[in-house]
Amino acid sequence: MSDILTITSEHVSGLLTKDAAPAAFCRDGDTVIFETRDCYDDAIVSEERPLGDKADPIENPATGPLYVEGAEPGDVLKVEILDIRLRGWGVMRSSPVCGVFHEDFTERTARIFPIRGEADEDRKPGDAAGSGGGIRDDSGCTAASGNDDTKRAGASENVASAQYIQFDDRLALPLDPMIGVIGTAPVGYGITTDTPHRHGGNMDCHKIVKGSTLYLPVNTPGGLLSMGDLHALMGDGEVFICGLEIAGRVTVRVSVVKGDAAAMLPTPFLSCRGRVMTIQSAETLDAAGDMAAKAMKNFVKKAAGKDNFEAGMLMSLLSDMAVCQVVDPLKTVRVEFPLAVLETYGYRLP
Ligand code: CA
Ligand code: CA
Repeated sequence: MSDILTITSEHVSGLLTKDAAPAAFCRDGDTVIFETRDCYDDAIVSEERPLGDKADPIENPATGPLYVEGAEPGDVLKVEILDIRLRGWGVMRSSPVCGVFHEDFTERTARIFPIRGEADEDRKPGDAAGSGGGIRDDSGCTAASGNDDTKRAGASENVASAQYIQFDDRLALPLDPMIGVIGTAPVGYGITTDTPHRHGGNMDCHKIVKGSTLYLPVNTPGGLLSMGDLHALMGDGEVFICGLEIAGRVTVRVSVVKGDAAAMLPTPFLSCRGRVMTIQSAETLDAAGDMAAKAMKNFVKKAAGKDNFEAGMLMSLLSDMAVCQVVDPLKTVRVEFPLAVLETYGYRLP
């Protein structure tokens, strides 16, 4: 067992709220492990029972919350994603009511995909958490497919994982594990974990991966960080309604950013693979896109010391706007900008 502070997946909720009792306390700069359930509350363990085996599952359960000592309202919580370990299998399910293609379906159908390659925990559907055993890929990575072309289908230069799923007998897909739900307690009333907003939440941004750093607002003492809804793989949009949904274990280092360094960060704010990103959610993609672009433009102004004209030009030349998801109660757009350009002007991320 690790002696790192671990919040087990018994500590889950479908609501992020400042009124929640902390599941754990840590100091500024500590490393913490969050054990997470999948978005179906780990209830689907068989393709034959797509409605799952729990009478009242929590939708999108998030593990936490973590109270970070010293975090006060107005600060920013810096969350470095050090590692994401996956359960030995992931699950996807069709929906007749949600997602872009919901009219294609009259009932729910589930598919379970064993995770192949170097899996941290090899568990088969139905195993109790942590009981070990289960699916092992007897033949290893070399069994992915018959030739290199199909083995690399879907791969990009940025894919960090050596793990993959075999989608069918032709197609192997390399994984790129990400965190779907991650947030602090919001201002005011609680927000359910199906919804993204200014506190983070169900952003479904597939750039929240191992090696990235997420900056979240502190709205209540301790910040109250929670996370869940891991996806082993997901494309921009999440159009079908789910990613490759999976339970797992996320290791993060949490630090408190204060003062001017905190005040200029347009949270939720992400640093990933050489790019910084604003992530905004609204009822329409148009509104979310405008919000994310304006937040980034204002950040570029301050970080590079530019006026509206030069910041606007830099945005048009260098920023990329992308859709995170279109299937949650609010839709989410991110705007990316190269960090190296800001560093040219002397800016350093806290
Ligand atoms: Ca989600
Ligand atoms: Ca999900």
